[in-house]
Amino acid sequence: MRIQFVDLLSQYQSIKEEIDNIISNVINDTAFIKGKYVENFEHSYKEKYGVDHCIGVANGTDAIYIALKMMGIGFGDEVITTTSSWISTSEAITQTGATPVFVDIEPDYYTINPELIEEKITENTRGIIPVHLYGQPADMQRIMNISKKHDLVVLEDCAQAHFAEITGKKVGTFGQVSTFSFFPGKNLGAYGDAGAILTDNPKLAKKIRMFANHGALQKHFHVFEGINSRLDGLQAGILSVKLPYIHSWNSKRLEIAMKYTELLAKVDELITPIIRPESVHVFHVYAIRCKNRDGLREYLLKNGISVAIHYPIPLPFMEAYKYLNHRDDDFPVVSEYRDKMLSLPVYPEMQEDMIHYVVDKIKKYYSH
Ligand SMILES: *Cc1c(COP(=O)(O)O)cnc(C)c1O
Repeated sequence: MRIQFVDLLSQYQSIKEEIDNIISNVINDTAFIKGKYVENFEHSYKEKYGVDHCIGVANGTDAIYIALKMMGIGFGDEVITTTSSWISTSEAITQTGATPVFVDIEPDYYTINPELIEEKITENTRGIIPVHLYGQPADMQRIMNISKKHDLVVLEDCAQAHFAEITGKKVGTFGQVSTFSFFPGKNLGAYGDAGAILTDNPKLAKKIRMFANHGALQKHFHVFEGINSRLDGLQAGILSVKLPYIHSWNSKRLEIAMKYTELLAKVDELITPIIRPESVHVFHVYAIRCKNRDGLREYLLKNGISVAIHYPIPLPFMEAYKYLNHRDDDFPVVSEYRDKMLSLPVYPEMQEDMIHYVVDKIKKYYSH
């Protein structure tokens, strides 16, 4: 049996008619940049989140950069974020001219550890970027309390956590601003690059919309210099078709995750994901911590099972951040875990027999 890490083709086939129609409509309307498909998606997305403003942008990395920059973050500022994420999170901080300040993860939940945030706050600290990693909400209540106490802005990086919830509230509605990626493999994915920014702040929303469009709301009336980072009509159309399915797709992911957790419960060589209390985890990634990770990984790959590592190198130890001179014991948890994490396939189209196949192979590997 061959098991892919994600299966975007099966998903397309399940909604082919709607997708083909919308693509053809966008082309027939020549609504490639801006226009009604983008407006429609922005409208539905903000409605689903119950926030006032949604601005579509070119990708999830730009979303972070644009939002930080429009909140006035730049040279000399520090922004606190997690050690475990895709590089976009810290890269966007640097792009504004600010410096990323890394904080270790919580041992059980893999998201930024709020207990370690305050010791990193200096007079230059301006904000915190929690990442809802793998689809697990960060501890938003404590992060918001810290931000209020120290007058910091909070940008939630929701690239892996569309419609995840904590304490009955969606992630992306806690901070001043939140950012999303619709990279094809994300829980809600376009057919190319796409991203969005949510906020309830009308002034900030306006600045963000202008900056992403060369500093103009109206063509040729550039109030300041910005960049070109727009959500395009085809991607917006595709996202609008997919949006109504997101809850059922997320539930499927959760179901598959629960099945893995149940079937792997007695395998002593590994630890399955722990869902934070009062949370809805949307399982963008199902990451286990396991013994002899590289051996298991090889074995599964040899047996046709695509697995991945999120992330082989924690951010502070990337060559790009060598200048920060971090050592392993600066971040003991993420350092300890880096050779243990392994991500198993999880996507809504996965069938029961596929889950069993993965589990059987894992058990077989550890039985000899
Ligand atoms: C995917 C991702 C991004 C970046 O999104 P792109 O659309 O690929 O630019 C940012 N942060 C996290 C945590 C991600 O997983």
